[in-house]
Amino acid sequence: MPEWEPVVGLEIHVQLKTRTKMFCRCQNTFATAANTQTCPVCLAFPGALPTPNATAVEWTLKLGLALGCEIAPRALFHRKHYPYPDLPKGYQISQYDEPLCVDGRFVVPGPEGDFEVGIVRAHLEEDAAKTIHVGGATGRIVGSAHSNIDFNRGGTPLVEIVTRPDLHSSDEAKRFLQLLRQTIVELGLSDAEMEKGQLRADANVSVREVGETGFRTRTELKNMNSFNHIARGIDAEARRQIATWESGGEVVQETLDYEVKSDTVTPRRRKEEADDYRYFPEPDLVPLEPETETLERLKSELPELPATRIRRFEHDYGLSYYDAEVLNGSAALAALYERVALDGVDAKAVSNVLMNDFVATGVDPDTVNAGELAKVIAARATIPRSAFAKALAESGDPEFKADTYLGEEVVADTSELEPLVDRVLAANPGQVAAYKGGKEGLLGYFVGQVMKETQGKADPKAVNELLRSKLG
Ligand SMILES: [Zn+2]
Repeated sequence: MPEWEPVVGLEIHVQLKTRTKMFCRCQNTFATAANTQTCPVCLAFPGALPTPNATAVEWTLKLGLALGCEIAPRALFHRKHYPYPDLPKGYQISQYDEPLCVDGRFVVPGPEGDFEVGIVRAHLEEDAAKTIHVGGATGRIVGSAHSNIDFNRGGTPLVEIVTRPDLHSSDEAKRFLQLLRQTIVELGLSDAEMEKGQLRADANVSVREVGETGFRTRTELKNMNSFNHIARGIDAEARRQIATWESGGEVVQETLDYEVKSDTVTPRRRKEEADDYRYFPEPDLVPLEPETETLERLKSELPELPATRIRRFEHDYGLSYYDAEVLNGSAALAALYERVALDGVDAKAVSNVLMNDFVATGVDPDTVNAGELAKVIAARATIPRSAFAKALAESGDPEFKADTYLGEEVVADTSELEPLVDRVLAANPGQVAAYKGGKEGLLGYFVGQVMKETQGKADPKAVNELLRSKLG
């Protein structure tokens, strides 16, 4: 049996969170009642003219730079025609053969080394309105089944990113998308929440035998609204294609929907009626010609990107890839880590505390006084666990001071702890017998009981030693 590998390219749409829409001055928000953020331009009244949103153009350039793209000296908007109720003009203003950003590469760090994903293009367009199907969702017309359209979304800025078919597993696709999402969020371009449709991804999937260099027929997978669904959809489609080839069949180029419940794909429509969008240059908009000074300014405004920061954390602080990745889950957590670690506290101890105890508190890292937190972490072995937990939970308070928690001392004195240990053992004869019978995992239970008796102030190490000696 030959070994197969998936070949995957992605098409990603990102809604930009500019204040206004792409070609008019309507508010770019969906938080208001349906069809309240509209005007003659985004409702396509005759004679209404589009004006490009300069911020959306700059943000697309910024994203292009972050993706390592070349910025076109001249880019054009085109009309992409297709009739659909959510598209009042009968065409979408998009970019065609002269997009803003081309030919990039995006490096994704991983535990087994980096992999690189080529970016074919990143271009700017407007989103369609939102169709809401009321009743008859199963496809059958039931009673008063109809569709409503909310034009608030119509004309909002959308960036489309197309990758090369450089991804060779569902895991790579997921890692790439998660890092891309984080990069977009940190650049402040979009909240990129998939469940809200702010980030959408379609996958072009084919398979080939390992060692094969050409490409086989690909299919396009749509309708996936979480990172896990994308990964599972790619797996399901790759399995189907491999089975087709192995049974002597032929994969047909088509568009498929992934259905989560059944973990299968179903055809949408055949691609043979190849889409004819009758693209032509938008006559109402002049070409975009990004100026050198603008590009230089945007480059200088780029922050350190998550991929670079993960590798730097590994290198500068001697962290494992896993730790570096978790700490870089948000720019705020990463920044807090650096502020505390640079305060002279052991880098590994800081990462352990932040990744586990601190994250569990839900405190916003941006609100924490790092110097005070550093003192608490440095003293963690000498203060009661309860005081330590309390300090972390209250670390976001503007009045947060390490001294408040450092006053309490750990009870490590055997003469103080011994009567407590005796009491716990006497109160739990069943567990003691079980422990002696070989259930050594019960030690943790006894430690927990003693900690409870002391409100968390006992030194766990001293308690452990006492228990072991008493239990023989
Ligand atoms: Zn408008």
